[in-house]
Amino acid sequence: MATQPILQRLIPDLGDGVAHDVANTQPASRQDITNSTSSQKQTSNLSFILNKPYDVEFAERPVPKLSNAHQVLVAINYTGICGSDVHYWEHGRIGHFVVKDPMVLGHESAGTIVEVGSAVKSLKPGDRVALEPGYPCQQCTNCLAGRYNLCPDMVFAATPPFDGTLTGFWVAPFNFCYKLPCNVSTQEGALIEPLAVAVHIVKQAQVTPGSSVVIMGAGPVGLLCAAVAKSFGATKIISVDIVQSKLDFARELAATHTYVSQRISPEENAKALLEHCNLEEGADVVIDASGAEPSIQTSLHAVKIGGTYVQGGMGKADITFPIMAMCQKEVTARGSFRYGPGDYKLAIELVANGSVDVGKLVSGVADFEQAEDAFKKVKEGQVIKMLIAGPNEPPQGGAKLVLSEEDITTGTSTTGGCC
Ligand SMILES: [Zn+2]
Ligand SMILES: [Zn+2]
Repeated sequence: MATQPILQRLIPDLGDGVAHDVANTQPASRQDITNSTSSQKQTSNLSFILNKPYDVEFAERPVPKLSNAHQVLVAINYTGICGSDVHYWEHGRIGHFVVKDPMVLGHESAGTIVEVGSAVKSLKPGDRVALEPGYPCQQCTNCLAGRYNLCPDMVFAATPPFDGTLTGFWVAPFNFCYKLPCNVSTQEGALIEPLAVAVHIVKQAQVTPGSSVVIMGAGPVGLLCAAVAKSFGATKIISVDIVQSKLDFARELAATHTYVSQRISPEENAKALLEHCNLEEGADVVIDASGAEPSIQTSLHAVKIGGTYVQGGMGKADITFPIMAMCQKEVTARGSFRYGPGDYKLAIELVANGSVDVGKLVSGVADFEQAEDAFKKVKEGQVIKMLIAGPNEPPQGGAKLVLSEEDITTGTSTTGGCC
């Protein structure tokens, strides 16, 4: 019940228009706000902490303080659960990133500015922002070359040893906080991170108007790649997965064709999927957003001669790779890692102009204290994208579809309402 109170206290001029989606459906009265300003909970910096695999705890951590004039303090409103968060929760590591000390999880967040450093001119308290959760050194050759996502000294939320954003308050450099337009809700703001991942992948794939694009995997990033490819002008978008219901969703979101991957060889799968969508010569672009070995193998057989293949998904570190197909077809193969210059900005614009309906992906919003249950739901594959409300948010609807058909058309439960 307390984000509004704390914001009210810290941002006296915030007013009624505070853009908390759920607050719109369950408004706290002025009386509530006034009363609860005296409660302890209003400055909760309760954090969701991973100690070791399947061992999590909630603990109050000190509210962080600005350490330089270019930083801002953000009250976290919503955080999406990412596959990587779930992977750390299950295994305590991803590759060489090992959780050795307790670590706060979460990195897909949106929040509200509560304090700005003296040098910050472009943001003010009350602004709703999507948080880009990785902070590069801005000194190394990659950073100076504009490829800051490849910075070896990146400080990235919820990547050990750095804490994540499933917490009450977060300090960030101002230029890694992207103000959300009035017609983009704070919940949608929490999906800008995975959408920026998809934007980066589709840029790497150089999708152009008229392209045919096969996307392996219909998890959140694969789905968002389909939507971004469509907005880039792709005319054939084929989503591939082993789960029919995910493909039904892909079709609703952006895919023009879907294909259920069969238990046959990668060559046969590629042939069947290409025949299915009249692309016998192969697809201009194939994106693997699954990380699964058979999908990657199928990708190389599905791409056309001279086509482009991008690896966006992460799975096993080493696999058997059809290198002959890549060589003989002179395939352009690229990796894609997180996001770089312009990706967040474009992701927000694609949501604001209606090209990508990220709200459709939200399967439910859990209260902060239900974070572990929400992780379980993601692991069990029951949901597409689960959001966790910040510890100062009012009670949420839980893990049910929060967007009714009516909500989607009218935008009632998803619009921010800041103007
Ligand atoms: Zn993520
Ligand atoms: Zn760097």
